[in-house]
Order: sequence, then C-alpha cells, then structure tokens
Amino acid sequence: MELAIGSFQNYVGGKWCTSETGEWMEQINPATGEIVSRVQKSSPKDATEAAQIAAKAFLKQDWAFNPRKRSAALFKWAAKMRENREELAKMLTLETGKPIREARGELLGAIGYMEYYASAARTLYGTTNAVDQNTLSILSREPVGVVAVIVPWNYPVTLLMRDLAPALAAGNATVIKPARQTSGVTMACISLMTDIEEFPPGIVNIITGSGSTTGMQLTREKTVDMVQFTGSSDTGKVIMAEAAKTMKKLSLELGGKSASIIFEDADLNKAIPFAITSIFTNAGQLCTSASRLLVQESVAEQVFKELKERAESLKVGNGLDESNDMGAITIESQMNSILDYIEIGKRDGKILTGGKRLTEGELAKGFFVAPTIITDIPCESPVVQEEIFGPVLTVQTFKEEDEAVEMANGTSFGLASGVWSQDIDRAMRVARKMRAGTAWVNTYNRLLNECETGGYKESGIGRSGGTEGLLKFTEVKHICIDFSPKA
Ligand code: NAD
Repeated sequence: MELAIGSFQNYVGGKWCTSETGEWMEQINPATGEIVSRVQKSSPKDATEAAQIAAKAFLKQDWAFNPRKRSAALFKWAAKMRENREELAKMLTLETGKPIREARGELLGAIGYMEYYASAARTLYGTTNAVDQNTLSILSREPVGVVAVIVPWNYPVTLLMRDLAPALAAGNATVIKPARQTSGVTMACISLMTDIEEFPPGIVNIITGSGSTTGMQLTREKTVDMVQFTGSSDTGKVIMAEAAKTMKKLSLELGGKSASIIFEDADLNKAIPFAITSIFTNAGQLCTSASRLLVQESVAEQVFKELKERAESLKVGNGLDESNDMGAITIESQMNSILDYIEIGKRDGKILTGGKRLTEGELAKGFFVAPTIITDIPCESPVVQEEIFGPVLTVQTFKEEDEAVEMANGTSFGLASGVWSQDIDRAMRVARKMRAGTAWVNTYNRLLNECETGGYKESGIGRSGGTEGLLKFTEVKHICIDFSPKA
C-alpha cells in the first residue's frame, strides 16, 4: 500500500534494518483517519543493540575529536532539510494535524537549531588555569558518549533538532526514540542524512516503538551515558528514577501550565491577539502555551469581550487547508482527555466560548475541539492546576500586582510566563519574580535558537537551546601538567 509519508525501517549502524519483531505500527492523519505512515515496532533488544552500536561508533569513529567534520555534517543535513522543507511540512501536518503554516514554521525552527549548532561545534572552547609557577590546568570539553534522545509528538522535528543537533555538535553518538505518532516525519528527516559522508555509521541511530518498551530500555542501558528527554512531567519522573540505577546524566524538558499576566496599563491591542495565539497555536499542544491568562480587574470586561470574539473567529479544520487557523488534536486519547477537562471546567467555572468537540461535516472524521475559554474558575480547580495540553484557556482576574504574581506561581510547573505592561519598572519586577525558565515581556512564545528554555519546579532539569543547550552534552576534563624543573 502506498502511504502519503511512507514506510520506514529502523536506521542503526548506518543501515536500514527491520526490528526483532518485524511488526509494523501505523499512524493516522488525525484530521481524516487515513493511515499515512508505518514504522517498525521495535523491542527492548533492538534498543540494546542500537545503544551498543552507538557506543562502539563513539569510541572507534572519527567524530568525537573532529569538530570540523561534525560542523560540516550538520550544515549539509540542514541544507537538505531546507531543500525539502515544503514536503516535510506537509508530512508534519499529515501526522500531527497542525496547520501547514505552523508546520513550515516548525521546520524553520528545526533548521535554525541545526545551523546554529553546526557553527557552535567549532567554538567549543575550554579554559586554562595557571595554578602556580609550574602547574597548568587545562579544562577541556569532551562529549559525554552515547546520548539517547527521546522526543514527544507535539513539535517532533523542532524538538528533535533542538537537542540532537547540539548532542552531535558536541561529538556524541546518538540513539533517537521518536514519539510513536510522529515517527514517519521523523524518519523522513533522518533519511536526508544517510548519504552525507561526514556522518560515520553508528553516530546517528533511530529506533521506533513504544515509550514503555524501547524508550524505557534506552533509559536502562549501561552503554547509554545520558538521556535527553522531552515529554510529560509524569514520564520524566519515571525516567529519572530508572536512570538513577546507572547514574546517567539527565536533561529533562517537561510539561507546563504557564501564566500570562495582563496589567491594566498593557497595550491591549497587542496583548489580546497574543493571548489568543499563545494558547490556540498547535491547538494548545505546546509545552509553553499560555494556558492561564490573568487579567487586572479594571480591564477584564474589555479583555473578555475581545477574547470571545477572536476565539470564535478562528477557523478550525484540516491543517492542509491554508485558510485554517487551528487543526486537529494529534491523538484521539488526548482529545478525550481534553474533553474530560472541559467537563470539569463546566463544573468548576463558566464556559465563555467553545466547550465541545466539533463534528460538523468533514470534521466528524477527525479529532477537533472548539477553541475554549473558561472564566470564573478557582485556582484549586484541576483545570487551572493541571496541564490540559489542548485548546483550553482559563481566564482569572486579580486586583494587585502581588496577587497576580502569587497566582502565576501557584502551580507545580515553572516552564514559562508572560507579563504585559507598559510600565517598565513593573514589567521587570514581575518578570524577575516569575518562578519559570522564561519570562516574556510584551510578547509570548518567542522561542529563539540562541536562547535557553527549560523548567523550574516540575517542568524539568537543564536547559535546551543556546550555549547551555550545547554544554550539557559535554563532560569537563581536567588535564593537569606539572613542569617543575628536575630535582
Ligand atoms: P510523553 O511523556 O508521553 O512521551 C514523550 C516521549 O517519551 C515519547 O517518545 C514516548 O514514546 C516516550 N516515553 C513514554 N514513556 C516512556 C518511558 N517509560 N520511558 C522512556 N520513554 C518513554 O509525552 P507526549 O505526550 O509525547 O508529549 C507531551 C508532553 O511533552 C507535554 O507534557 C508537554 O508539555 C511536554 N513537552 C515539553 C517540552 C519542553 O520543552 N519542556 C516540549 C514539548 C512537549
């Protein structure tokens, strides 16, 4: 059967190969229900083999100590991604349901990381310390070894490259485990690097399969030195506990429940449209979504009215239709979970707009949820406290600055935050008080290749992007030289 994205085997040791089971997993287009790709259902043994091959390649291949080669490899791969951007964007939309415009943007973000870290590979400097007259210490940066890169389905290409590119730039060998739902588009990206001669066999390996089998096995493997995980906080905790047994290095990029605060002196013409895109981009399936909006009481009426109008004007439908603003939810079970939260929202608060699955006409074939806004909701409600990961915005009001800060910081997450005010003193004060890895001021979701993102509290450990996102894939080696004269 000809599939829109294709059928892919695992790619291990520089070869395409079937998994131990030989079985396939199919992925559907969440907008239509059609099967679009199939990939191998790998076993724990496949994960073990891939990790062992990566470990051997790390030690034997000309890679770990050849930054120019690594830079060239990444630049060539980025160029191929650029050439094939439109085709990859379509695949991304077919597997995730996101609007094609957003898919094109995602590809650009991914290519940006590849190019940024391709350059950075050549400037991975260490330091020296002239400790005393006859002693020089050299602190050099070396790769960690084998890095397992475990990726979620919401931004499968950008989030892959955000960490794979620096892991490779730093000289590591890698084993990738994509999310099951977006394995097809991930494999299409991998197929663009297989004939780049600068990549030695065994440095980039990828196996597909379920998280609890293949992903978990990578977390257990002795030959894996570091796990780079992006996904939910619940899975992050499981991985952290498992990785402790072999003392792996860990970087965890986890969930969020981010708040954006609109003060009465904000430029509402900018803040309100941003409030809409900050939650309804990718149908709310974005870790940094501003899923909680906090509005100062004096401007609440105007904000509520405009939010409702704007949410109701969003066109929801098949992501391939250029005119649609919001696409399908990527997974049926995820849609059902969102609908359950909406029911809790009806119980604990008031629905300002939306609040249901969309099933008119063609929408009945897919997993579509109306852009939903919930007001009059107490802070204790699970709708305010838990990550819904869907197109659901809660809007709460406050009187004073301190109250807003307390509400914004009042969940177990700490991934991102937003502050809207034209009073620079206030904006800076509040941004500094946010217990979150990012504080955007008079903007939101400006995710930049060269700047770090990551979580406080249960939103994670470590940072991705920027310099920190490269250094985490290195160990510091201390070489100490004694040149005292002979006694
Ligand atoms: P998830 O935790 O279910 O899965 C993420 C990845 O981990 C998938 O590849 C999955 O197969 C794998 N996995 C699942 N169980 C595993 C296990 N026991 N051992 C090893 N691997 C396992 O998350 P998801 O539903 O794919 O993604 C959505 C979540 O990711 C949301 O919570 C979102 O906020 C978070 N996220 C965070 C960031 C960030 O940068 N902080 C970015 C995107 C998404």
